[in-house]
Amino acid sequence: MLTGLKIAVIGGDARQLEIIRKLTEQQTDIYLVGFDQLDHGFTGAVNLPVSATTGEGVVSTVFSNEEVVLKQEHLDQTPAHCVIFSGISNAYLENIAAQANRKLVKLFERDDIAIYNSIPTVEGTIMLAIQHTDYTIHGSQVAVLGLGRTGMTIARTFAALGANVKVGARSSAHLARITEMGLVPFHTDELKEHVKDIDICINTIPSMILNQTVLSCMTPKTLILDLASRPGGTDFKYAEKQGIKALLAPGLPGIVAPKTAGQILANVLSKLLAELHAEEGK
Ligand code: NAP
Repeated sequence: MLTGLKIAVIGGDARQLEIIRKLTEQQTDIYLVGFDQLDHGFTGAVNLPVSATTGEGVVSTVFSNEEVVLKQEHLDQTPAHCVIFSGISNAYLENIAAQANRKLVKLFERDDIAIYNSIPTVEGTIMLAIQHTDYTIHGSQVAVLGLGRTGMTIARTFAALGANVKVGARSSAHLARITEMGLVPFHTDELKEHVKDIDICINTIPSMILNQTVLSCMTPKTLILDLASRPGGTDFKYAEKQGIKALLAPGLPGIVAPKTAGQILANVLSKLLAELHAEEGK
């Protein structure tokens, strides 16, 4: 139980509802900001993470028509031990947290959240692959770029569906792991040699990897699903010129499984809060 812990939940979408639900069960005092359109009868106050702000501090609020802007002066009014939790972050948020001398925890950087999130992410990727092709994933030629927390789940799941999967990585450990997984490894330096005859290319590398040189070796039959954070790792303008369908597909967990995505955040967050609470009690 987190009885008595005061938490402000500022903005968000359906995922934050799961966080509010979980924290309410744990008897926290919750202060909600940006949830005035919500008809859920939450009674407690709420406070909590912001899935980042814009560069001007505006917090996205699906459940309010009011603009919510988080400023340093707000953080200055919190007690010194107050911790700010955010999904992702940006220079603005980092700056106001630093100026206010408050700890900022970026939840999406944590391995546990990234690995749990890879589950709804791969389900969303399968959905997109089905929607944008007229053949089965089974038997198709798939290239996955990156063997990080998302890439590994994508590669394994597409292989389990019967696709012929090759995976591009740059570290020798990743190349060894790809081999161990029974998949075909290649070094990303040789990417252009490996995109010549693939049906679906799924990118998880957050840098410009599918550049003009690589795209000019691809045929227009290839579908690119770029999962990397904005702006993605594809030269989308050039892909369009080449007649290659390339989709930037951010935020799949929140789209295909907002409840699960919210529960993932809620579970990890409540564990972190319990640790904090225990620390404070010492
Ligand atoms: P991650 O664990 O850090 O994996 C990224 C991988 O990219 C690492 O294995 C890294 O390899 C590799 N990499 C980075 N730069 C490279 C380069 N220049 N050449 C070759 N490989 C390179 O990150 P993640 O959690 O899997 O997330 C990957 C991306 O997907 C992020 O941008 C994340 O925001 C995004 N994402 C999107 C969704 C969605 O719904 N679309 C969902 C989850 C995550 P090294 O280890 O060698 O550096």
